[in-house]
Amino acid sequence: MLRSSNRTRVADVLVPVAVDQAYSYRIPADLEIAVGDLVEVPLGTRETVGAVWEIRETGGSNLKAIAARCDLPPLNPSLRAFIDWVARWTLSPRGMVLRMSVKAAFNAAPEPVRIGLVRAGPPPARMTPARQRVLAALEDGFPHSKSALADLAACSTSVIDTLVDEGTLAAIALPPEPIAGICDPDFAAPRLEAAQKDAAEALVAAVKAGEFSVSLLEGVTGSGKTEVYFEAVAEALRAGRQALILMPEIALTAQFLDRFAARFGARPAEWHSAVSPRKRARTWEGLAKGDVKVVAGARSALFLPFADLATIIVDEEHEAAYKQDDGVSYHARDMAVVRGQIDKAAVVLASATPSIESRVNAEGRYRHLRLPVRFGGSSLPMIETIDLRREAAPRGKWISPRLVAGVGETLEKDEQALLFLNRRGYAPLTLCRVCGHRFQCPNCTAWLVEHRFRRALVCHHCGHIERRPDACLECESVDSLAACGPGVERLAEEVAELWPDARTLILSSDFPGGTERLRQELDAIANGACDLIIGTQLVAKGHNFPLLSLVGVIDADVGLSSGDPRAAERTFQVLQQVTGRAGRFGRTGRALVQTWEPDHPVIGALVCGNAERFYTEETEQRRRAGLPPFGRLAALIISGKDRASAETHARALVRAAYALPPNPKWRLGALGGLPREDEISLLGPAEAPIAVIRGRHRFRLLARAPRNADLQGFLRAMLATAPPERGGVRVMVDVDPQNFM
Ligand code: ADP
Ligand code: ZN
Ligand code: ZN
Repeated sequence: MLRSSNRTRVADVLVPVAVDQAYSYRIPADLEIAVGDLVEVPLGTRETVGAVWEIRETGGSNLKAIAARCDLPPLNPSLRAFIDWVARWTLSPRGMVLRMSVKAAFNAAPEPVRIGLVRAGPPPARMTPARQRVLAALEDGFPHSKSALADLAACSTSVIDTLVDEGTLAAIALPPEPIAGICDPDFAAPRLEAAQKDAAEALVAAVKAGEFSVSLLEGVTGSGKTEVYFEAVAEALRAGRQALILMPEIALTAQFLDRFAARFGARPAEWHSAVSPRKRARTWEGLAKGDVKVVAGARSALFLPFADLATIIVDEEHEAAYKQDDGVSYHARDMAVVRGQIDKAAVVLASATPSIESRVNAEGRYRHLRLPVRFGGSSLPMIETIDLRREAAPRGKWISPRLVAGVGETLEKDEQALLFLNRRGYAPLTLCRVCGHRFQCPNCTAWLVEHRFRRALVCHHCGHIERRPDACLECESVDSLAACGPGVERLAEEVAELWPDARTLILSSDFPGGTERLRQELDAIANGACDLIIGTQLVAKGHNFPLLSLVGVIDADVGLSSGDPRAAERTFQVLQQVTGRAGRFGRTGRALVQTWEPDHPVIGALVCGNAERFYTEETEQRRRAGLPPFGRLAALIISGKDRASAETHARALVRAAYALPPNPKWRLGALGGLPREDEISLLGPAEAPIAVIRGRHRFRLLARAPRNADLQGFLRAMLATAPPERGGVRVMVDVDPQNFM
């Protein structure tokens, strides 16, 4: 039977902009289009690239037509399902999630031509030692780039140019450099210790099973977690399948990549902000085609088009850096579990200090694998507290006498010491000694932080920067400004006075040079190029510092008093991680922790090494309060140019919520009543702790829901019935918020 000629094939195409819906386009008769294909389509006045989400037939239509099919592999069903899932969970437009997934595939400049030199003719008329060395270097028959050849032959490039002119050598075009070498699962397998072996076997079995599973790999720092999860990667490679290793961005150092190469014979593909657009585009394509087998990447690597993903490792799974807060706000650790479920992959969460969420999940839903001791029998560091109430530093100084002595001894033994202070800049507050004026950001409810290296006062929330004045802006007194409290720059001054000869390095995320420079500095520390390290939270992130034997914590209590429900957990993790940097590989490390509250449970658990007690108590508190993982949270941040319109809209949202009809999938607790366990409770609106950021006034609403309630459904219904946002008011939805400011 003939098809009626007025049927048209239509593709629903998701485009990478902030819309949830796919747009419909006509498929021209001469185009071969399938679901998942990347296509060029007109959008408004321009062309964009989108992905085909569905194909259907319809009666005659006057839709615009797809312009072309891109020459790229299609998005496979599991990636499309993942994009849909993340969008639904985070309440983000699907187009924005698609954008995270595909933008790297495009807008890369074409590959530059690489030139290689090969032997092409008789030796030169006049032979010199340098020319001889060049010819010898080419004897292996492989082409070399000019600079590599000059290096090999230890000569200048002009020697090579002359040989080309004489016809001895010829230049040929080389294929682009591979983005990753061939990884060999059996290149250099380690001999594992008993506990390591048990854990590795469990992971290998999980990968072999080819089913979705989650394992929490918990092991003290230095216990060999990396060696163990490498076995899961090896199993994926043996099966010809793919592996993803997620890490906090800054942990992706040359040190890690070299270690991977030592195990597998080649480096993995890298994915983080310092990778060039061209390399990203090639990695994207290589993964989609299945040519690239292993990626080590920051959180965004989760959205790459893996052809056949066998395992996802989330290293340092407790890290807050896995949460993305702008654009699509998602938690990469949680989404890794989702991706694993969709792709039927074995997910491995690794940490020395797991999140409470993963710890609780490991009591039933996940497999729990433990590595209780450090590799090679080296012991965990001895942790002592220094009670600042009794052993304070001299006035205007921050290092107490006992810590001074400890650092001195360490330096004398030619070992490394690390001073940890989680505060960037010179001083967190500047005030006038005469009139008491405090320097505040004009755009935010926040004090300006002095950065002495930059001679500036800086806002850490909006980036506002101003010159540090010579006189008080309020009372005009000259030389009256005082820096209050320490930052790493100020600590560096004190260190320079105490140990003028020590080679000191400050690690802080705000220093020029960005991530790339930081990576180099971390490698320098590992190689022993410095004696004393002053660092912010960055240093806690899973680096190996083999020469480090003393860690001094300047102010252990910093994070404890914030209103964040995870404050205790975060403090415990960061202190445990940072003190755990001390003393690996045979040296016994030591940690000296300065605190005003030596009796605080967090400090107590740290000192006696009793993580279990901390986890038990903290878990119990979360259970009682219905906080994650026992309940779920979502925050709405309502911001506006003026305070009143933001607050009015926040109140309108609450009213909309209480006016919603009953729903079988969720129930909202009575306004003002005590929340019941099976009900969603809505807290706020409350002015945000940082009430103004970038000139926008902020209010927060917090929804807490039982695990089985449809929290997203509730939020969607509330947002849909609320009045439209007026006067520049914006609502940001943050499902599973990690940041409560
Ligand atoms: P973690 O990731 O738990 O902090 P690592 O995997 O980094 O621990 O191991 C700490 C150090 O011990 C590394 O240098 C690692 O190479 C070494 N190591 C661990 N297990 C073994 C092993 N079975 N054989 C050889 N070296 C090991
Ligand atoms: Zn003043
Ligand atoms: Zn500001």
